[in-house]
Amino acid sequence: MGLTFIAIKPDGVHRGLVGEIIARFEKRGLKLCALKVVVPEKAIAEKHYEEHAGKPFYPGLVDYLCSGPIVAMVWSGKDVVAVTRKMIGATKPAQSEPGTIRGDLALDMGRNVIHGSDSDDSAQREIKLWFKEEEVCSKYVKADRMWVYEVT
Ligand code: UDP
Repeated sequence: MGLTFIAIKPDGVHRGLVGEIIARFEKRGLKLCALKVVVPEKAIAEKHYEEHAGKPFYPGLVDYLCSGPIVAMVWSGKDVVAVTRKMIGATKPAQSEPGTIRGDLALDMGRNVIHGSDSDDSAQREIKLWFKEEEVCSKYVKADRMWVYEVT
């Protein structure tokens, strides 16, 4: 099973959306492997968004991420990167489908509530950036596994 890095951004924390967002991933059947509340250091936020360095929105994006606590998480499951990206919805909330997290909970691209890795490679990179190896509990077998998956 793959892993992905998910972060509820400061607006999601301040708006009290943490429980609702975690509940969506839990109900989908995904497995929670790591979770912490952290006010990001600037250097880590810059590294996290390094692919956007030099773009006009980059400084504001880094400040936004560092402006308050985020809830950093690792989730696991079948096709977890694709599944969570779909649940999160498009970057621009006006283009996010209703039923997605951004489509239901956000209106502004600069305050779009949540981050999710966009590929297995970025997931590996981001998990390493935000968590120590021993903080990620990916080995346990979730009790509902045989009901979430067709196990042979
Ligand atoms: N962003 C922004 N203005 C832009 C493009 C992106 O503020 O013109 C922010 C937005 O918060 C987005 C983040 O930068 O979530 C990272 O952009 P990316 O294209 O990687 O989108 P995501 O993967 O988060 O959907």
